[in-house]
Amino acid sequence: MYTVPKLEDYSPAALDKAAADLFAALDFETAALTSEADWKALRDRWLARKNGLLTQVNDIWLKAAPKEAKRDVGQRVNELKRLAEAGIVAAHEKIHASSADAKRAAERLDITLPGVQRPIGVKHPVLRVQDEIVAVFKAMGYSVGEGPEVETDYYNFESLNFPPNHPARDTQDTIFIADQERKPTRDCLLLRTHTSPVQIRTMEKLAPPVRIVIPGKVHRNDPLDATHSPVFHQVEGLAVDTNITFCDLKGTLDHAMKALFGSSVKTRFYPSFFPFTEPSADMQVSCIFCGGKGCRKCKFSGWIELLGCGMVDPNVFEFVKHNGYDPGRVSGFAFGMGVERITMLKYEVEEIQLFYEGDVRFLEQFA
Ligand SMILES: [Zn+2]
Repeated sequence: MYTVPKLEDYSPAALDKAAADLFAALDFETAALTSEADWKALRDRWLARKNGLLTQVNDIWLKAAPKEAKRDVGQRVNELKRLAEAGIVAAHEKIHASSADAKRAAERLDITLPGVQRPIGVKHPVLRVQDEIVAVFKAMGYSVGEGPEVETDYYNFESLNFPPNHPARDTQDTIFIADQERKPTRDCLLLRTHTSPVQIRTMEKLAPPVRIVIPGKVHRNDPLDATHSPVFHQVEGLAVDTNITFCDLKGTLDHAMKALFGSSVKTRFYPSFFPFTEPSADMQVSCIFCGGKGCRKCKFSGWIELLGCGMVDPNVFEFVKHNGYDPGRVSGFAFGMGVERITMLKYEVEEIQLFYEGDVRFLEQFA
């Protein structure tokens, strides 16, 4: 570190040498600067009024100079101070310039960097299975129907042969829209508990024959557990024509189950009850895990209950008789299945919530 030497010799040559040493030291120090803080330290060391290096030059060189050299030394010291101050200011500007360069460099857009990748999603497993089911029936000539999720009591219950206050209504815990006490019951709004109202809506629009599948979201006031959710999906089906029999129902559903689960799967039908079909049945498939031998999944019965179905109740046709559905002339069958239930079987998912939580760790397994 440079210190201001005492001068023994005040000859011009000695003064030149002393000045050269001082500038060499200053150049060396300014060249090493890298930050504003460095520069401030250097400025204080050289320019501080009290005991700065230039003040010391004044004190040590000029004040100690012999009388006859004072004038010359004074001029040299003034010039030297002016140059040193200019050098220190210039060094400051250089630091600013280089930090601005650094900032610009950091902000520069590097177009060779890879972009932000947004992975392409895949169809949700429930929708995928819903589409598979729909495709199976489309291949058999069915078209696809849709209807509103907010339904009237008339379409959700009454026209499907659930009379007001009928106990069958209690099997579907219903979520009603609030503040409708003054409306007649059949006009009250609710969240549809099944996709079946679209059967009536379709028959109101289309004269027989009809063959339609109705996929969609349904709502029930069920507490969430491993296999129940207040919102789930159904695929409903309806076929109406002259001479449709229970054989057609069995053949259609047996074919559909083989298309969904593989050709070795068997079906069987058990008597059941639904207000809108007569007779009604629950359909079971041979266990897709053990092939019918019996395992934990089928509770060792060899069979898994999969859907409800039946022949359309003549009382239902009465509601759309005006559009050609004379129960004396036409007959039909209907069926409905839960999409989540089939998805859980197909992919061995044990908790229904997994479908709705949006956890990518779960969903990406279906990618
Ligand atoms: Zn089994």
